[in-house]
Amino acid sequence: MSDAKDGQKKILVIEDEPDIVRGLRDALEFEGFCVEARSSGAEGLIAAMDLGPDCVLLDLMLPDDNGYRVCETLRSRDPVVPIIILTAKAQEADKVRGLEAGADDYVTKPFSIAELIARINAIFRRQARLGASDETFPIGTWTINSRKHTMARGRTVKRLTFYELEVLKLLRERADEAVSRDELLEKVWGVQPSPTNRTVDNFVVKLRRKLEEDQKNPKHILTVYGFGYKLVP
Ligand code: CA
Repeated sequence: MSDAKDGQKKILVIEDEPDIVRGLRDALEFEGFCVEARSSGAEGLIAAMDLGPDCVLLDLMLPDDNGYRVCETLRSRDPVVPIIILTAKAQEADKVRGLEAGADDYVTKPFSIAELIARINAIFRRQARLGASDETFPIGTWTINSRKHTMARGRTVKRLTFYELEVLKLLRERADEAVSRDELLEKVWGVQPSPTNRTVDNFVVKLRRKLEEDQKNPKHILTVYGFGYKLVP
């Protein structure tokens, strides 16, 4: 990764299966990314701090540590870097747990390299857009800062992850209007809508936990039953 050229995006792959690493490296380098790989959680965390990657691909089944714990540690050290989990587990509960641990997205093995690359490119496109904006906006008594990825109230400052912020920004652009789950999935995650995809709902749970005084009676991120969500700033 030390030989990354100007403007070249750096991707850190934390994965212990050599065949998968080789396949990812070939495909990602072909796309013009700079790729660095580590085969354990401990090495991966060191590399994440040393190299400042633009995106991390993290396997959940690592030889030395539980991938969820690696994800939590990484997220606590870097609130912003996009983390995509590579999981062999197709269970919804595992995906939810990964998102709870601070991941932004996940792909289930065996995954399509083309789909993974599409997701990575979608992340980078949104990052470029985000980097150009520097704005704050209020939600309730919180002030959201889209450059710092924070929400602040008095002396309390909470971090917002990349996707949490993107969801808030899209809802806020359309404040007091219902935005469908499908539109959120397409515009924020760049994925095709699917009735079984719970990603949006999982993120709303996380956002409510941070924003709402009473998660059971939200005042700001409201559910529009059978459709999506509405922001009341
Ligand atoms: Ca593994």
